[in-house]
Amino acid sequence: MTKRGVMEATAVCSHSRLSNFENCPKKFEYRYLLDIPAESEGIEGFMGKRVHEVLERLYLAVERGHVPRLEQVIRRYRLLWDEHYDAERIRIVRSENPPSFYRINGERCLTSYYRRHYPFDGSETLGIEHRIEFPLDEANEYRMQGVIDRVVRARDGALEIHDYKTSARTPPQSVIDRDRQLALYEIGLRRELDERGPVRLVWHYLQNDRICTSTRSAEQLKRLGDETRELIDRIREERDWEPRTGPLCRWCEYSERCPAVGGGSRVAAPNDPPEPATASKPTAAPEPAPARKPAAASGPEGATGTPPGPGQLDLL
Ligand code: SF4
Repeated sequence: MTKRGVMEATAVCSHSRLSNFENCPKKFEYRYLLDIPAESEGIEGFMGKRVHEVLERLYLAVERGHVPRLEQVIRRYRLLWDEHYDAERIRIVRSENPPSFYRINGERCLTSYYRRHYPFDGSETLGIEHRIEFPLDEANEYRMQGVIDRVVRARDGALEIHDYKTSARTPPQSVIDRDRQLALYEIGLRRELDERGPVRLVWHYLQNDRICTSTRSAEQLKRLGDETRELIDRIREERDWEPRTGPLCRWCEYSERCPAVGGGSRVAAPNDPPEPATASKPTAAPEPAPARKPAAASGPEGATGTPPGPGQLDLL
C-alpha cells in the first residue's frame, strides 16, 4: 500500500474529491492518500455509468450524421450492462431490489431523454464528455479538473453546461442554485473558451424526465473560487482523517475495512437515506469535436421489434 502526500493528492482537485473529503475525511484518506482501490461498486453508480456511456455514444453518432433509433440505443445499453456487470463486485444496498430494477430504470432514463430530445438538433454540441483542467488562482497552486457531460451552444447564443443525473430524486431549485460542480465547470469553461456571454447550467434528471437550470453571477463565481481554495487548504492542513459515519456509509466501498462501522459489519439502515452519487466520470474524455448538423432520421422509435441491420449497432 502506498501513501501519497496530501499535496500530491490535492495538486489537481475535482468536485468529487472535495465532496469525498466533506462527507468523510477517512474515506478521502483511503481513496486518495492510501490509494486503496475500491473493491465494489454500488449498482446505482454502475447504472449511471452505463447511461452516460450510451448518451455519449448517441451524441457521437449524431455528430457523424446518424441519429440512431431508440431501439438501438436501448440495445446498446443492454449490451454494455451485460458486458460490465459482475455480480461479485456490484453491490446492491437496497437488497429488496433485484438488478433488473436498476437496469430497467436506466432504460427508462434513456427512453425519456431520447423522446424529449429527438432528433437531437435543438442546439449545437460543442463538446461531449469534455475534459477540463483549470487554475483557481494566478499562482497556479489550486487546480481543478472535471469532465463535462455535454457542452452546448443554445439557440439563444448562451453557452450551456449539461449534466446527466440518474438519481431518483430531483433536488429543489434552492439546492440546484448552490450546486458547486457545474459552477466550477463554468469557471473553467469561461476561461478555456474566453466566453464573455451568458452561461447556463443545465441538469437532466432522467428518471423524472425533468430539466433544471441555474445561472451564476460573476460575484458568485468569484466567491465560489475563494471558498474552493479555502476547502483545499483545509484538506492540505488535515492530519486526523477522522471517519464521519452517516447514511452514506451503506454505499461506501471501504465500509468493510472501516473501524468506525465495525469493519465487516454494516451500519444500520436509516429510514430514508439519501442516494449516493450515481455516476462517476471517466478519467479521460475526447476533446470536443466541432459540431455538425445532424442528419434527419427516419423516425424516433424505429421499427419496434426489428433488430438493427448489420453495422447499424456499431454506429452506437
Ligand atoms: S464507512 Fe463511513 S465512516 Fe467509514 S470510511 Fe466509509 S463513509 Fe467514512
